[in-house]
Amino acid sequence: MAGRFAPSPTGDLHIGNLRTALVAALLAETSGREFIIRMEDLDLVTASPEFEDRQIEDLSSIGVRTTLEIVRQSERFELYREAITQLTASGDAYPCYCSRREIRAEIEAAAQAPHGNLPDGAYPGICRDLTASERAEREAEGRKPALRLRTSGETYVVNDLVAGRFEGGIDDVVLARADGVPAYNLAVVVDDAAQGVDQVVRGDDLLSSTPRQMHLQRLLGLPTPEYAHVPLVLGEMGSRLAKRDGAITLRELVERGETVSSVRDAIAESIGCGPAGNHPEPFELWAAQWSLDRLAREPVQLSNFALSVETEDDAAS
Ligand code: GLU
Repeated sequence: MAGRFAPSPTGDLHIGNLRTALVAALLAETSGREFIIRMEDLDLVTASPEFEDRQIEDLSSIGVRTTLEIVRQSERFELYREAITQLTASGDAYPCYCSRREIRAEIEAAAQAPHGNLPDGAYPGICRDLTASERAEREAEGRKPALRLRTSGETYVVNDLVAGRFEGGIDDVVLARADGVPAYNLAVVVDDAAQGVDQVVRGDDLLSSTPRQMHLQRLLGLPTPEYAHVPLVLGEMGSRLAKRDGAITLRELVERGETVSSVRDAIAESIGCGPAGNHPEPFELWAAQWSLDRLAREPVQLSNFALSVETEDDAAS
């Protein structure tokens, strides 16, 4: 039994990510699970070992640590290929030769058509039923296919520990890119099962992807973990906190004169932990007192964090 935090090492973690990581670590600890950190570095163009080191350091400085080896998705392509082979053999995957432009054009055309709009961003099915000769034609043009999941309007209910009941549909998501790199939804499902993860805590921007992952679990014969999708931290005006709000990484706050422990304590207080003060092992202290029902179900505002330094928005006004 294990919980996990699975960041993509493509930049510094902002305090919203660190907050989610602390919830993940505390929930694993208080439910008697091991805690895994997994680096989701599938895209070697955007992921870097430097950010991995910085993320691990930042996580550690707020008390989020693992005694287990850190796993990197870039080292596990073989496992993902096996799952892809299985889905191809069962007829649940098909090659897709579309460019982004072709997909966009088809979606726009469908919006004008009498049958109306497709769900947001859903693949409009252009390559779903190509004949063998249509495929051969595209191959002859030198097109390299991505691999998509074949779905037929299934819906899944997520009984989320934080978000409650969520019902969502699935679409023909990409399983592997045309350059062979496996896609996030596939890799995450394979890894969670392979690593014995039965508790997934992550930002609630991924709640709508969970039905896709549950579908893949079903097709691959893998168990479904329990889920806790944590509401995001919002910026000053109630906007979603994004990575580009560089002002609110831990490192930026420290540069502005905040101490690591004051940021750590502010993050902890925002999820319902009492103040750690000068306690030498705040994580253990928090774990002894914390439970998931202390976590606010609503997104929290950055301005509610008990931090004394100015954020960029304050400074500009
Ligand atoms: N790697 C994903 C991210 O950083 C999170 C994946 C997950 O927790 O399932 O957004």
